[in-house]
Amino acid sequence: MLDTIIIGNGPAGISAALYIQRAGLKSLIIGKDSGALAKAEKIENYYGFVNPISGKELVSNGLLQAKRLGAQYINDEVTGLSYDGNFMVYTANKNFSSKSVLIATGKVKNKPRFKGLEEFEGNGISYCAVCDGFFYRGKDVVVIGNSDYALHEAKELLPLVKSLTLLTDGNNLTINVPPSIKVNRKKIRSVEGTDFAEKISFEDGSKMHTDGIFIAAGSASSSDLAKKIGAEIDKDNIVVDENLHTNIDGLFAAGDCTGGMLQISKAVYEGSKAGTEIIKYVRS
Ligand SMILES: Cc1cc2nc3c(=O)[nH]c(=O)nc-3n(C[C@H](O)[C@H](O)[C@H](O)COP(=O)(O)OP(=O)(O)OC[C@H]3O[C@@H](n4cnc5c(N)ncnc54)[C@H](O)[C@@H]3O)c2cc1C
Repeated sequence: MLDTIIIGNGPAGISAALYIQRAGLKSLIIGKDSGALAKAEKIENYYGFVNPISGKELVSNGLLQAKRLGAQYINDEVTGLSYDGNFMVYTANKNFSSKSVLIATGKVKNKPRFKGLEEFEGNGISYCAVCDGFFYRGKDVVVIGNSDYALHEAKELLPLVKSLTLLTDGNNLTINVPPSIKVNRKKIRSVEGTDFAEKISFEDGSKMHTDGIFIAAGSASSSDLAKKIGAEIDKDNIVVDENLHTNIDGLFAAGDCTGGMLQISKAVYEGSKAGTEIIKYVRS
Protein backbone atom coordinates (compact mmCIF):
# COMPACT_ATOMS: atom_id res chain seq x y z
CA MET A 1 0.00 0.00 0.00
CA LEU A 2 1.42 3.38 -1.03
CA ASP A 3 1.28 6.38 1.29
CA THR A 4 0.28 8.64 -1.56
CA ILE A 5 -0.30 8.74 -5.30
CA ILE A 6 0.42 11.99 -7.08
CA ILE A 7 -1.49 12.35 -10.34
CA GLY A 8 0.49 14.73 -12.54
CA ASN A 9 4.21 15.34 -13.01
CA GLY A 10 4.07 19.13 -13.48
CA PRO A 11 5.45 21.70 -11.00
CA ALA A 12 2.64 21.07 -8.47
CA GLY A 13 2.88 17.28 -8.40
CA ILE A 14 6.69 17.18 -8.38
CA SER A 15 6.97 19.84 -5.64
CA ALA A 16 4.69 17.73 -3.44
CA ALA A 17 6.82 14.64 -4.15
CA LEU A 18 10.01 16.45 -3.06
CA TYR A 19 8.57 17.08 0.42
CA ILE A 20 6.92 13.66 0.71
CA GLN A 21 10.06 11.76 -0.26
CA ARG A 22 12.29 13.75 2.10
CA ALA A 23 9.88 12.86 4.93
CA GLY A 24 10.48 9.16 4.20
CA LEU A 25 6.98 8.34 2.86
CA LYS A 26 6.27 6.12 -0.16
CA SER A 27 4.91 8.04 -3.13
CA LEU A 28 4.11 7.18 -6.71
CA ILE A 29 3.87 9.88 -9.38
CA ILE A 30 1.74 9.06 -12.42
CA GLY A 31 2.04 11.46 -15.35
CA LYS A 32 1.27 11.20 -19.02
CA ASP A 33 3.27 14.05 -20.60
CA SER A 34 4.85 17.46 -19.90
CA GLY A 35 1.48 19.18 -19.25
CA ALA A 36 1.06 22.94 -19.76
CA LEU A 37 4.82 23.46 -19.78
CA ALA A 38 5.23 21.40 -22.95
CA LYS A 39 3.98 24.48 -24.81
CA ALA A 40 6.12 27.03 -22.93
CA GLU A 41 9.12 27.75 -25.13
CA LYS A 42 10.91 30.11 -22.72
CA ILE A 43 10.30 30.82 -19.05
CA GLU A 44 11.98 33.84 -17.55
CA ASN A 45 9.73 34.81 -14.63
CA TYR A 46 10.50 31.85 -12.37
CA TYR A 47 13.03 32.24 -9.60
CA GLY A 48 16.63 31.03 -9.95
CA PHE A 49 17.34 30.93 -13.71
CA VAL A 50 19.73 33.56 -15.01
CA ASN A 51 18.78 32.69 -18.58
CA PRO A 52 15.34 31.57 -19.81
CA ILE A 53 14.65 27.84 -19.54
CA SER A 54 12.25 25.85 -21.72
CA GLY A 55 9.14 24.33 -20.14
CA LYS A 56 10.12 20.82 -21.25
CA GLU A 57 13.54 21.14 -19.59
CA LEU A 58 12.01 22.43 -16.36
CA VAL A 59 9.60 19.45 -16.23
CA SER A 60 12.35 16.97 -17.04
CA ASN A 61 14.67 18.47 -14.35
CA GLY A 62 11.87 18.33 -11.76
CA LEU A 63 11.19 14.68 -12.46
CA LEU A 64 14.89 13.80 -12.23
CA GLN A 65 15.07 15.65 -8.89
CA ALA A 66 12.09 13.68 -7.49
CA LYS A 67 13.53 10.40 -8.76
CA ARG A 68 16.89 11.20 -7.15
CA LEU A 69 15.03 11.46 -3.85
CA GLY A 70 13.51 8.02 -4.42
CA ALA A 71 10.06 8.87 -5.84
CA GLN A 72 8.61 6.18 -8.10
CA TYR A 73 7.30 7.42 -11.45
CA ILE A 74 5.25 5.80 -14.15
CA ASN A 75 4.40 7.29 -17.49
CA ASP A 76 0.72 6.45 -17.85
CA GLU A 77 -2.70 8.04 -18.06
CA VAL A 78 -5.04 7.97 -15.07
CA THR A 79 -8.55 7.12 -16.24
CA GLY A 80 -10.41 6.73 -12.93
CA LEU A 81 -10.38 7.20 -9.18
CA SER A 82 -12.45 5.65 -6.38
CA TYR A 83 -12.52 5.45 -2.58
CA ASP A 84 -13.51 2.63 -0.22
CA GLY A 85 -11.48 3.48 2.88
CA ASN A 86 -8.38 3.59 0.70
CA PHE A 87 -8.02 5.23 -2.70
CA MET A 88 -7.90 3.23 -5.93
CA VAL A 89 -6.28 4.90 -8.91
CA TYR A 90 -6.95 3.32 -12.31
CA THR A 91 -4.66 3.73 -15.29
CA ALA A 92 -4.93 2.31 -18.76
CA ASN A 93 -2.60 -0.53 -17.74
CA LYS A 94 -2.79 -1.07 -13.96
CA ASN A 95 -4.61 -0.17 -10.71
CA PHE A 96 -2.92 1.17 -7.56
CA SER A 97 -4.11 1.69 -3.98
CA SER A 98 -2.96 4.34 -1.53
CA LYS A 99 -3.82 6.09 1.73
CA SER A 100 -4.02 9.54 0.09
CA VAL A 101 -4.12 11.11 -3.37
CA LEU A 102 -2.98 14.44 -4.78
CA ILE A 103 -4.64 15.64 -7.99
CA ALA A 104 -2.14 17.89 -9.77
CA THR A 105 -3.25 17.41 -13.36
CA GLY A 106 -3.21 21.03 -14.47
CA LYS A 107 -5.94 22.83 -16.34
CA VAL A 108 -6.21 21.23 -19.78
CA LYS A 109 -9.81 20.35 -20.50
CA ASN A 110 -10.49 18.33 -23.61
CA LYS A 111 -13.89 19.30 -24.83
CA PRO A 112 -15.17 18.43 -28.28
CA ARG A 113 -16.70 21.29 -30.25
CA PHE A 114 -20.15 20.96 -31.74
CA LYS A 115 -23.45 22.83 -31.61
CA GLY A 116 -25.67 21.97 -28.65
CA LEU A 117 -22.88 20.76 -26.32
CA GLU A 118 -23.27 23.47 -23.65
CA GLU A 119 -27.04 23.64 -24.14
CA PHE A 120 -27.58 20.00 -23.15
CA GLU A 121 -24.91 19.62 -20.44
CA GLY A 122 -26.75 18.06 -17.49
CA ASN A 123 -29.73 17.28 -19.75
CA GLY A 124 -28.56 14.20 -21.60
CA ILE A 125 -24.88 15.17 -21.77
CA SER A 126 -22.68 13.95 -18.92
CA TYR A 127 -18.96 14.06 -18.10
CA CYS A 128 -18.91 11.17 -15.62
CA ALA A 129 -19.99 7.56 -16.24
CA VAL A 130 -19.62 6.44 -12.64
CA CYS A 131 -21.68 9.43 -11.39
CA ASP A 132 -24.51 9.40 -13.97
CA GLY A 133 -24.47 5.94 -15.60
CA PHE A 134 -27.29 4.71 -13.34
CA PHE A 135 -29.73 7.23 -14.89
CA TYR A 136 -29.22 5.58 -18.29
CA ARG A 137 -30.09 1.97 -17.35
CA GLY A 138 -31.51 0.12 -20.36
CA LYS A 139 -30.96 3.11 -22.66
CA ASP A 140 -29.06 3.75 -25.88
CA VAL A 141 -25.99 5.80 -25.05
CA VAL A 142 -22.87 7.06 -26.77
CA VAL A 143 -19.41 7.88 -25.44
CA ILE A 144 -17.48 10.58 -27.32
CA GLY A 145 -13.74 9.93 -27.32
CA ASN A 146 -11.06 7.85 -28.99
CA SER A 147 -8.55 6.85 -26.29
CA ASP A 148 -8.07 4.94 -23.02
CA TYR A 149 -10.23 7.34 -21.04
CA ALA A 150 -13.18 6.84 -23.43
CA LEU A 151 -12.78 3.06 -23.15
CA HIS A 152 -12.71 3.29 -19.34
CA GLU A 153 -15.98 5.28 -19.38
CA ALA A 154 -17.53 2.87 -21.91
CA LYS A 155 -16.68 -0.12 -19.70
CA GLU A 156 -18.37 1.58 -16.71
CA LEU A 157 -21.54 1.98 -18.76
CA LEU A 158 -21.66 -1.35 -20.61
CA PRO A 159 -23.24 -3.45 -17.80
CA LEU A 160 -26.04 -0.88 -17.39
CA VAL A 161 -27.10 0.27 -20.82
CA LYS A 162 -29.02 -1.28 -23.74
CA SER A 163 -26.53 -0.21 -26.40
CA LEU A 164 -23.27 1.66 -26.41
CA THR A 165 -21.59 3.35 -29.36
CA LEU A 166 -18.20 5.00 -29.24
CA LEU A 167 -18.15 8.16 -31.36
CA THR A 168 -14.61 9.16 -32.34
CA ASP A 169 -15.82 12.52 -33.77
CA GLY A 170 -13.60 12.12 -36.83
CA ASN A 171 -10.47 11.22 -34.83
CA ASN A 172 -8.36 8.08 -35.15
CA LEU A 173 -8.87 5.37 -32.56
CA THR A 174 -5.83 4.95 -30.32
CA ILE A 175 -7.18 1.81 -28.57
CA ASN A 176 -8.52 -1.65 -29.32
CA VAL A 177 -12.26 -1.64 -28.82
CA PRO A 178 -14.01 -4.89 -27.70
CA PRO A 179 -16.73 -6.20 -30.07
CA SER A 180 -19.49 -5.37 -27.55
CA ILE A 181 -18.94 -1.67 -28.31
CA LYS A 182 -19.95 -0.28 -31.70
CA VAL A 183 -17.70 2.39 -33.20
CA ASN A 184 -18.81 5.34 -35.32
CA ARG A 185 -15.96 7.45 -36.76
CA LYS A 186 -18.00 10.30 -38.27
CA LYS A 187 -17.41 13.96 -37.44
CA ILE A 188 -20.17 15.36 -35.22
CA ARG A 189 -21.99 18.53 -36.33
CA SER A 190 -24.57 19.02 -33.56
CA VAL A 191 -26.69 17.58 -30.79
CA GLU A 192 -30.39 18.27 -30.96
CA GLY A 193 -33.41 17.73 -28.73
CA THR A 194 -36.15 19.53 -26.86
CA ASP A 195 -35.55 19.43 -23.09
CA PHE A 196 -32.98 16.61 -23.36
CA ALA A 197 -30.41 15.60 -25.98
CA GLU A 198 -32.17 13.18 -28.35
CA LYS A 199 -30.32 13.15 -31.65
CA ILE A 200 -26.80 13.52 -32.99
CA SER A 201 -26.23 14.98 -36.47
CA PHE A 202 -23.02 14.23 -38.34
CA GLU A 203 -21.15 16.33 -40.92
CA ASP A 204 -22.15 13.86 -43.68
CA GLY A 205 -25.84 14.68 -43.05
CA SER A 206 -26.70 11.41 -41.26
CA LYS A 207 -28.31 11.36 -37.79
CA MET A 208 -28.57 8.91 -34.90
CA HIS A 209 -30.92 8.67 -31.93
CA THR A 210 -29.44 8.69 -28.43
CA ASP A 211 -30.76 8.75 -24.86
CA GLY A 212 -27.48 9.91 -23.36
CA ILE A 213 -24.07 11.29 -24.33
CA PHE A 214 -20.94 10.82 -22.22
CA ILE A 215 -18.01 13.09 -23.03
CA ALA A 216 -14.60 11.41 -22.61
CA ALA A 217 -12.45 13.19 -25.20
CA GLY A 218 -8.68 13.10 -24.66
CA SER A 219 -7.59 12.30 -21.08
CA ALA A 220 -9.49 12.55 -17.81
CA SER A 221 -9.11 16.17 -16.68
CA SER A 222 -8.75 17.26 -13.05
CA SER A 223 -12.47 17.98 -12.76
CA ASP A 224 -13.37 14.64 -14.44
CA LEU A 225 -11.28 12.80 -11.82
CA ALA A 226 -12.62 14.91 -8.94
CA LYS A 227 -16.24 14.31 -9.98
CA LYS A 228 -15.77 10.54 -9.93
CA ILE A 229 -15.03 10.63 -6.23
CA GLY A 230 -17.50 13.34 -5.21
CA ALA A 231 -14.99 16.17 -4.74
CA GLU A 232 -16.45 19.65 -4.92
CA ILE A 233 -15.86 21.61 -8.13
CA ASP A 234 -16.52 25.26 -8.90
CA LYS A 235 -16.37 26.37 -12.54
CA ASP A 236 -13.99 23.53 -13.47
CA ASN A 237 -11.67 24.25 -10.51
CA ILE A 238 -11.29 21.73 -7.68
CA VAL A 239 -12.39 23.43 -4.45
CA VAL A 240 -9.69 23.29 -1.73
CA ASP A 241 -9.19 25.00 1.63
CA GLU A 242 -6.06 27.02 2.49
CA ASN A 243 -4.25 23.73 3.22
CA LEU A 244 -5.13 22.22 -0.16
CA HIS A 245 -7.56 19.68 1.34
CA THR A 246 -10.63 18.91 -0.78
CA ASN A 247 -13.95 18.00 0.83
CA ILE A 248 -12.89 14.29 0.66
CA ASP A 249 -10.69 13.12 3.54
CA GLY A 250 -7.23 12.21 2.18
CA LEU A 251 -7.79 13.81 -1.24
CA PHE A 252 -5.72 16.91 -1.98
CA ALA A 253 -5.42 19.12 -5.08
CA ALA A 254 -2.74 21.61 -6.13
CA GLY A 255 -1.62 23.78 -9.04
CA ASP A 256 -3.58 25.04 -12.04
CA CYS A 257 -6.45 22.63 -11.27
CA THR A 258 -7.45 24.68 -8.20
CA GLY A 259 -7.80 27.88 -10.27
CA GLY A 260 -6.42 31.32 -9.40
CA MET A 261 -3.08 32.44 -10.88
CA LEU A 262 -2.03 29.91 -13.53
CA GLN A 263 1.72 30.23 -12.95
CA ILE A 264 4.58 27.93 -12.00
CA SER A 265 5.31 29.78 -8.73
CA LYS A 266 1.73 29.24 -7.51
CA ALA A 267 1.79 25.56 -8.57
CA VAL A 268 5.09 25.04 -6.73
CA TYR A 269 3.75 26.70 -3.57
CA GLU A 270 0.55 24.65 -3.58
CA GLY A 271 2.42 21.42 -4.34
CA SER A 272 4.80 22.03 -1.43
CA LYS A 273 1.95 22.89 0.93
CA ALA A 274 -0.08 19.85 -0.19
CA GLY A 275 3.03 17.69 0.31
CA THR A 276 3.43 18.82 3.91
CA GLU A 277 -0.30 18.30 4.56
CA ILE A 278 -0.12 14.78 3.07
CA ILE A 279 2.78 13.96 5.41
CA LYS A 280 0.69 15.05 8.42
CA TYR A 281 -2.37 13.16 7.11
CA VAL A 282 -0.54 9.86 6.53
CA ARG A 283 1.25 10.02 9.89
CA SER A 284 -1.90 10.82 11.88
C1 LIG B 1 2.23 28.32 -23.56
C2 LIG B 1 2.35 28.46 -22.05
C3 LIG B 1 3.35 29.29 -21.54
C4 LIG B 1 3.49 29.45 -20.15
N1 LIG B 1 4.46 30.26 -19.66
C5 LIG B 1 4.62 30.43 -18.33
C6 LIG B 1 5.65 31.26 -17.82
O1 LIG B 1 6.43 31.84 -18.55
N2 LIG B 1 5.75 31.36 -16.46
C7 LIG B 1 4.90 30.73 -15.60
O2 LIG B 1 5.06 30.86 -14.38
N3 LIG B 1 3.90 29.95 -16.08
C8 LIG B 1 3.73 29.77 -17.41
N4 LIG B 1 2.72 28.98 -17.89
C9 LIG B 1 1.78 28.34 -16.94
C10 LIG B 1 2.41 27.10 -16.30
O3 LIG B 1 2.82 26.22 -17.31
C11 LIG B 1 1.39 26.42 -15.37
O4 LIG B 1 0.86 27.36 -14.45
C12 LIG B 1 2.04 25.29 -14.59
O5 LIG B 1 2.66 24.36 -15.46
C13 LIG B 1 0.98 24.56 -13.75
O6 LIG B 1 1.57 23.46 -13.13
P1 LIG B 1 0.65 22.17 -12.73
O7 LIG B 1 1.60 21.23 -12.09
O8 LIG B 1 -0.52 22.63 -11.97
O9 LIG B 1 0.08 21.62 -14.11
P2 LIG B 1 0.83 21.11 -15.44
O10 LIG B 1 2.16 21.74 -15.57
O11 LIG B 1 -0.15 21.29 -16.54
O12 LIG B 1 1.08 19.57 -15.15
C14 LIG B 1 -0.01 18.68 -15.13
C15 LIG B 1 0.50 17.27 -15.20
O13 LIG B 1 -0.62 16.38 -15.11
C16 LIG B 1 -0.47 15.34 -16.05
N5 LIG B 1 -1.80 14.80 -16.34
C17 LIG B 1 -2.91 15.46 -16.74
N6 LIG B 1 -3.96 14.62 -16.84
C18 LIG B 1 -3.48 13.39 -16.51
C19 LIG B 1 -4.06 12.09 -16.43
N7 LIG B 1 -5.38 11.88 -16.68
N8 LIG B 1 -3.27 11.05 -16.09
C20 LIG B 1 -1.94 11.24 -15.81
N9 LIG B 1 -1.34 12.45 -15.86
C21 LIG B 1 -2.11 13.51 -16.20
C22 LIG B 1 0.24 15.96 -17.22
O14 LIG B 1 0.93 14.95 -17.92
C23 LIG B 1 1.21 16.89 -16.48
O15 LIG B 1 2.35 16.19 -16.11
C24 LIG B 1 2.58 28.79 -19.27
C25 LIG B 1 1.57 27.95 -19.80
C26 LIG B 1 1.46 27.79 -21.16
C27 LIG B 1 0.38 26.89 -21.71
